[in-house]
Amino acid sequence: MEKYARLRDQVSKLTGAQLVEAPPASDTQILYAHDAHYLIRVLEGKLNPEEQKEIGFPWSEKMVERSRRSAGATVAAAKAAFDDGIACNLAGGTHHAYRNRGSGFCVFNDSAIAARTLQKEINPKLQIAIIDLDVHQGNGTASILEHDASIFTLSLHGENNFPFQKESSDLDIGLPDGCNDEMYLDTLQNALDQLDNRFKADCVIYLAGADPHEGDRLGRLELSKQGILKRDQAVFQYALDRKLPLAFSMAGGYGKDLESTVDIHFQTIQTALQFQAQY
Ligand SMILES: [Zn+2]
Repeated sequence: MEKYARLRDQVSKLTGAQLVEAPPASDTQILYAHDAHYLIRVLEGKLNPEEQKEIGFPWSEKMVERSRRSAGATVAAAKAAFDDGIACNLAGGTHHAYRNRGSGFCVFNDSAIAARTLQKEINPKLQIAIIDLDVHQGNGTASILEHDASIFTLSLHGENNFPFQKESSDLDIGLPDGCNDEMYLDTLQNALDQLDNRFKADCVIYLAGADPHEGDRLGRLELSKQGILKRDQAVFQYALDRKLPLAFSMAGGYGKDLESTVDIHFQTIQTALQFQAQY
């Protein structure tokens, strides 16, 4: 959890970035992606011990508030991106949350909530691409949006990593353990080309996980910091070339050294600023 405070500290000193308090997602917005019974049980602290254990942290009023704001921040970033080109959530990327259950530190699925909220509150015809480059598969996102042709889910992840039972995204690419920069970037370019051939996106939601980094405790891949820079550039360039609003979230990052994780997230934000200036 500490990475979020440190990242916020660093971003607050950055010129050109405007920091805004995360608004909570409303019940209505959460229900665009979640089951009402699940939402009520989260709000009232009535998940059973197994469900709570699957999420990975204990229930509290603050946990509910944090989960609401983490989703609300992605909604706010997605809306801001329509004015500013690029905007981000300094947390979020809670892609393991399913329609009716949480998992892997994820309570509400911010990407699915934000995508659906854009359609409900901005334009019902919006087509949205979710590009999930966290090292873990976006299983919750894939499951929630499986039968939704208006939202394209792309997940590039470690094949042998959690979740061990994968769901079907619109495009899934599983990478082998030890995958290096060159292989990763080739695969990513290929994935973006496929996305382009199969889907006409009006905007992008990007999960910029720091956990593909070689210094990550959970990642199992071997991307350098420079490799992750090129990854981010590839996604931002994809959006910029098509003038697509892009909102991104931090998603995972569990460095052996906390500072290296914060550094990678911060690098993504600095890169975003360079691209944002070109919109
Ligand atoms: Zn992850």
